[in-house]
Amino acid sequence: MSYLFPTYARWEVEVSHAEGSYLYDTNGKKYLDFVSGIAVCNLGHRPKKVLEAIEEQLQNVWHVSNLFQQPIQEELAEILVRHSSGDAVFFANSGAEANEAAIKLAKKYTGKHKIITFQKSFHGRTFLTMTATGQEKVQEGYGPLAPTFEYLPYNDVEKVKQLQDDSVAAIMLEVVQGEGGVVPGKKEFLQAVEQKCKELNALLIIDEVQTGIGRTGKPFAYQHFDLDPDIITVAKGLGSGIPVGAMIGKEKLKAAFSPGSHGSTFGGNYIAMAAALATVKEIFHPAFLTEVKDKSTYFQQLLEKTLNNTSGFELRGLGLMVGIDCHQNVNDLISTLREKGLLVLPAGPNVIRLLPPLTVTKEEIDQAVAMIQETLLKVSEPSLQ
Ligand SMILES: *Cc1c(COP(=O)(O)O)cnc(C)c1O
Repeated sequence: MSYLFPTYARWEVEVSHAEGSYLYDTNGKKYLDFVSGIAVCNLGHRPKKVLEAIEEQLQNVWHVSNLFQQPIQEELAEILVRHSSGDAVFFANSGAEANEAAIKLAKKYTGKHKIITFQKSFHGRTFLTMTATGQEKVQEGYGPLAPTFEYLPYNDVEKVKQLQDDSVAAIMLEVVQGEGGVVPGKKEFLQAVEQKCKELNALLIIDEVQTGIGRTGKPFAYQHFDLDPDIITVAKGLGSGIPVGAMIGKEKLKAAFSPGSHGSTFGGNYIAMAAALATVKEIFHPAFLTEVKDKSTYFQQLLEKTLNNTSGFELRGLGLMVGIDCHQNVNDLISTLREKGLLVLPAGPNVIRLLPPLTVTKEEIDQAVAMIQETLLKVSEPSLQ
């Protein structure tokens, strides 16, 4: 008997405490955590500097609302702006809320109503962002959906080039589709989307909720592809586990979000700001990002070498966001890995998604790959082993 709505299929694991790359359950079992709270705990669990910043903030003031001046919001916004193509920030509490703000802003700024997104995308669970999400299973039972969205196939350059529509306010996409199976966008495709936005006088919105905040070895994943988005949204990794989201947009958009046009009671809350500020100060450090790149190369090469001789597995990803497409249902594999002590998650039915903390060590990567090897090679075709 549970007092909760059964919205989640939960694992049989109850965590007692967490530290760095590890979780410990109430039976004393230790897990190497390559889920990171779904790309949230990018500095590992309870990182010292973030903990100290939160503790210090707790001693001063917790919440006053956006009726007040909050210099800590300015300080965090300045850092987000300095590391991105944007000029101004709106703070929210989640990824869906950041995307919700982005879509509203695009409509208001352009005076147009249509939003183009992509098949297999994921943008959130609010009504607007669920509609933006190009997956029927997310939308099932909730129709009629919000007007007006259209979904194009991801990585299809021709379909983007063919798009002719004066009513498009924005094209919104992930640079690597996360929930949709860890599918990186091709550079040619991403640049065609940007070009099309210019042609249609539409805004380019990049949803960096999963890919942002150092996950791919750069502050934001779009920075691998020479893009200049009008709006970027972030959330997951921003607060190291304290709920926070942000929409970062260009100067020209400021006037469309004048007082009264949008808002949030909790958005920009002191505790969230303290956590996020301490998080980005650490992650946006060039030396930290260089290490993320080194480790991601190491991880991907090791996985490639390990799974190379085995058909049936396809590796995809960018930085420390890695997918193994197993071309078969991965639920049992994920349970087996969990029993062995490695936490990973699915991305769609057939893909194992690996999201280690950005602070992961090479030794921990070695351990994880050994467990993955043991588990996956067991199910590969015997003739190929
Ligand atoms: C998780 C996710 C969201 C939704 O974020 P919430 O904080 O759960 O609302 C939106 N977009 C992408 C790409 C995500 O991965």
